Amino acid sequence: MAEIEHGVTLIRGGRLADPARRRAEPADILIEDGVIRAVGAGLSAPEDARIVEAAGFLLHPGLINAHTHGHGALARGSADRWTLEMSLTAAPWLVGSRGLQDKKLSATINAAELVLKGCTAAYDLFSEIPLPTVDGLDATAEAYATVGMRAVIAPMVADTTLYDAIPGLRDALPEALRAEVDRARLAPHEQTLAAMRAALAGWRWNAKDIRAAVAPTIPHHCTDAFLCGCRDLARDFGVGIHTHLGESKVQALTGMRRYGKTLLAHMDALGLVGPGFTAAHGIWMDDDDLKRLRDAGGALAHNPGSNMKLGNGMFGLRRALDLGVTVGVGTDGSSSSDHQNMYEAMRVASTLSKVLTPDPRGWASVEEVYDAATRGSAKSLGFTDIGAIAPGFKADIVFLDLAAINWIPHRWTVNQMVHVEDGSSLRHVMIGGRFVVKDRRLLTVDLARLAAEAEEAHERLDALNADRRALFERLAPVVASYCPAFAAQPYHIRRYLCDAPA
Ligand SMILES: [Zn+2]
Repeated sequence: MAEIEHGVTLIRGGRLADPARRRAEPADILIEDGVIRAVGAGLSAPEDARIVEAAGFLLHPGLINAHTHGHGALARGSADRWTLEMSLTAAPWLVGSRGLQDKKLSATINAAELVLKGCTAAYDLFSEIPLPTVDGLDATAEAYATVGMRAVIAPMVADTTLYDAIPGLRDALPEALRAEVDRARLAPHEQTLAAMRAALAGWRWNAKDIRAAVAPTIPHHCTDAFLCGCRDLARDFGVGIHTHLGESKVQALTGMRRYGKTLLAHMDALGLVGPGFTAAHGIWMDDDDLKRLRDAGGALAHNPGSNMKLGNGMFGLRRALDLGVTVGVGTDGSSSSDHQNMYEAMRVASTLSKVLTPDPRGWASVEEVYDAATRGSAKSLGFTDIGAIAPGFKADIVFLDLAAINWIPHRWTVNQMVHVEDGSSLRHVMIGGRFVVKDRRLLTVDLARLAAEAEEAHERLDALNADRRALFERLAPVVASYCPAFAAQPYHIRRYLCDAPA
């Protein structure tokens, strides 16, 4: 974990969020060396124990973000009315030319926002252009460690460009542009796999609960040889695999066209789908896919805010839960859906499930959404000791001020956490028994300095990436017209209210 607060701490009199109860009841929490030892009324503690008075606070386990991108933070606020494919077209502009300090800065902004909004662990698919590097991944891990939260860092990789991955897209480009995208072809997978292997072999962050994983970004953006190489790396180092799977209809159609089967069925055939496997988004997964994921012991990272903003369609949360799939909740990166607020992600997960059908039996409950954003996400990250305030769990605890407007009145705790709380009631965040946020102030990073560095970096990077932006402006009209036309083809499941402009 981050830094353990050694010794014994007694948190006294806070109300504990408990989905089994309508309204949180007061209880004490005894913590020793960063781990919760006991929870209950009237606990006693040794004389030298630190006492934290928590009367008037609601205490909930740190929320867990099952899918984010630390590299996206510096690109926050860049996009509107972009599909996923437009966003991928923009990636070289938005993430290009970054030095090591820029990579660390972006991850630090991401981690700082997560913690300030009640999240204490995240699965970060971090992208470096053109290739992952040992130093870049190390800097990303260092950013999370400095902020003081737990994370899984997965280098996000591919060996096939968007233009080669989507059938017909490259051919739809005018000849001059075709030559430009051909020049930007990605490194051979052997080179990328070697960089990842070096990063995994030298990984020095496990003791701080900052673990590594492998993220072939999108199945058909990777050759089969590359996917198998990622599978072998995950096996050799005992780490997880995370991929964007069936995020857009374009992707689902491409999978069928290319493999004659769904994307998940293809990855399963190659041996990538198992207990450490997380499918991000999964909007376009059908029932067979969901059952296959469930049976393999994998997890799905549901990113409702990003799914809506990028127009990818509506994920059937109720159906996935009914089929027994482990579902976590994520925000996605801030370059897709521009914040890292897990309260907002929960709220949207709940409300989106309620627009799919007029029958409430088809909706997800607040308890299920809360469970997904804690226990479900923890499973996706591969942690068994976070996501609950209970003996044996890490002392990752968020303190919400019950005098804040969101809790006036306080009637149904989990309902208000999911549907009312927006982070503005947050007063303290404890990770591993140590306060990382106290009285709304992040104790580990100087936000004013972070703001100054971000301002300098984004102006400098925008200038450095001017040519890449110009190329994006030329590519965008083609991608913006080709991909929706491609997506107008029939697929065997529906995730839109209508497939054409209303
Ligand atoms: Zn993503």
